[in-house]
Amino acid sequence: MRPLVADIDLDALRHNYQLACRCAPHSRSVAVIKADGYGHGALACAQALESQAPAFAVACIEEALTLRQGGINRPIILLEGIFSADELALVDAHGFWIAVHSQWQVDALLAATLQAPIPVWLKVDSGMHRLGFAIDEAAAIWRQLSDSPSVASLHLMSHFASADAQDNRYFNQQMTRLKGLASELDAPLCLANSPATLAWPVSHGDWNRPGVMLYGSDPLEVANDITRQLQPVMTLRSQIIALRELEAGEPVGYSGRWRAQRRSRIAVVACGYGDGYDRHARDGTPVLVNGQRCAIAGKVSMDMLTVDVTDVPDAVIGSDVVLWGRASNGEVLPVDEVARYCDTISYTLLTGVLPRVPRRYHGRSV
Ligand SMILES: *Cc1c(COP(=O)(O)O)cnc(C)c1O
Repeated sequence: MRPLVADIDLDALRHNYQLACRCAPHSRSVAVIKADGYGHGALACAQALESQAPAFAVACIEEALTLRQGGINRPIILLEGIFSADELALVDAHGFWIAVHSQWQVDALLAATLQAPIPVWLKVDSGMHRLGFAIDEAAAIWRQLSDSPSVASLHLMSHFASADAQDNRYFNQQMTRLKGLASELDAPLCLANSPATLAWPVSHGDWNRPGVMLYGSDPLEVANDITRQLQPVMTLRSQIIALRELEAGEPVGYSGRWRAQRRSRIAVVACGYGDGYDRHARDGTPVLVNGQRCAIAGKVSMDMLTVDVTDVPDAVIGSDVVLWGRASNGEVLPVDEVARYCDTISYTLLTGVLPRVPRRYHGRSV
């Protein structure tokens, strides 16, 4: 069997969820498990969190149905709401909650005949300029919805563009617009994503929406004492499948991007971009071999990548390799660090792990 697996530590997931709750003791935290639980397996994550998380958030009805069919009975909110009016029948049948960001969604909701009214999160655009009603049109929509028999309850929802940044000027602008509207409407709020949950208590509302932090990634530009308590949930783990010695000057891999500066030992690892490992990984991207830091040497191939193990004399065929996560000696390679070497963010690496990589679940079952 190919040795590449994604080990998923469900105890770490629960630990990170508890951390989100401790950061915001007066809020309820909806666990965001869209994009198949950021690549970790949405159903397994929901099962692991179901006794703690009062609700789950996904991007679309297909993701919500997967959870319901898997036996998840908690409320599930569709963060982008319905994509067509006929989805309302399924929303109604399964008791989903919906975000409403566009006039056509309001119209569909007001015109619908439902078995039960639907909890609605009205999305306003406070500065992200992606989804939602303009601040100055939101009050009228709010009143229209609160008068409708289709609506069970209403929250004001918005999303921050730069809650991760040290420079909080734009975040504060968004907050100011939201506070004004919220006090005008006396609306319960749902604003905070992971970085806002961790760094900006002023944004904590009736609900928060932590996502990537649940998986142990630090969303802040600058780590702090709280984010250092996050534990990696996914360990992408493989093994060395071949080793070779190179003379100084000899190249490795496609187009010979990396060249040995000295006599070098190169390990071939069973993991490549066909598994979702980022092909943009530069020479020097960290990898743990037997729990020891090493560096990628040469371009990532589809099924393999190559690592300089000259300074790891105990590296042999079959040695453990951790691409990110926690090695068996306890050494941690944060996915955030790997992402920086790939000019990307942890979100793309985690959601990018392809179905070819088996997920293996660990941790106390609830
Ligand atoms: C994905 C998402 C979140 C979670 O964001 P993180 O940065 O992963 O915490 C919160 N709110 C909305 C609307 C989202 O789409």
